[in-house]
Amino acid sequence: TGFAFGGLIQYTLIGSQEQSENAFQEMNLLFQKLDAEFSANSDTSVLSQINATAAASPVLISKTMFDLLAFSQEMALKSNLAFNPVIGPLVKLWNIGFETARVPAPEEITSVLNLLQMKGFILDSAAGTVAFEKQGMALDLGSIVKGYAAKEALRICKEHQLQGALISVNGNVAVYGSRSNGESWNIGIVDPRSNGNGVVGSITLKDSTIATSGDYERFFEQDGIRYHHLLDSSTGYPANSEWMSVSIFSDDGTLADALSTTIFVLGKEKGLDFLEKYEDIDFLLIDQDQKMWASPNIRERFQVRNDSYQWGMK
Ligand code: ADP
Ligand code: MG
Repeated sequence: TGFAFGGLIQYTLIGSQEQSENAFQEMNLLFQKLDAEFSANSDTSVLSQINATAAASPVLISKTMFDLLAFSQEMALKSNLAFNPVIGPLVKLWNIGFETARVPAPEEITSVLNLLQMKGFILDSAAGTVAFEKQGMALDLGSIVKGYAAKEALRICKEHQLQGALISVNGNVAVYGSRSNGESWNIGIVDPRSNGNGVVGSITLKDSTIATSGDYERFFEQDGIRYHHLLDSSTGYPANSEWMSVSIFSDDGTLADALSTTIFVLGKEKGLDFLEKYEDIDFLLIDQDQKMWASPNIRERFQVRNDSYQWGMK
């Protein structure tokens, strides 16, 4: 086990002692490096330095950072800002997941909404820089960095020619090859109303990453209302989504992670429509009525292990 991105990393690596130890070292180092670069919660991260200075003048960034920002901007535009990488000021205002979380006053919310627009987020590919149009704008890549890490973990497994691996990056999972007995990995999908203890069901997988976004991961309750950490940048409030849990399966962990957040925020009708653009993406979505919606591949193979959950589709 290890610690990065504000949570636990669990590694199960199958191979020779040397192979698995080398792969572990490489992943662990990489995750520390990514955390130091991309954290929105550490004042010393590269991301925080960008946030502090990009309104004053363009900031030169690494190729990895540039590529992730370009990908994020594209996803933001495609999803009509359901996915929003410059949601930083709103995330900080709510602070969900931290002790200081609170419901902001309506005027506080209004005052940050104009900082969340894509046109103020300027990427210059020739110069390799990022700039903000307005003081107070801030990036938050919390919705993709763990997926990116999971994707990199798969690459490292391949490079080290492991027999198999299961890596959980704080809930974003990567599976590779097979278990020690030669069988595929069995992945459980968390029951969103079980405090993380139960599962809805499971599926066997090879060479994939799985990203889940849910209203149960980080939230607080006030006056009987659940305020969760997936925010809608058009209203400034937690997304009023029909989904409780959105799991996306893809060998591209970054895409899976971005889509899990996007589909949650888009809600049911728009979310299902949006997924039609992605032919190669598998998904399992659970709505507030405990009904499940899945891509054909998952619908056929997902083993339901909890009577409270039923298929919402044929
Ligand atoms: P988790 O981090 O719990 O696995 P996600 O991958 O869905 O879940 O990322 C949620 C995080 O992304 C939030 O904690 C916040 O930092 C950021 N975020 C919240 N709302 C959005 C949004 N609409 N678009 C992009 N990022 C968001
Ligand atoms: Mg995500």
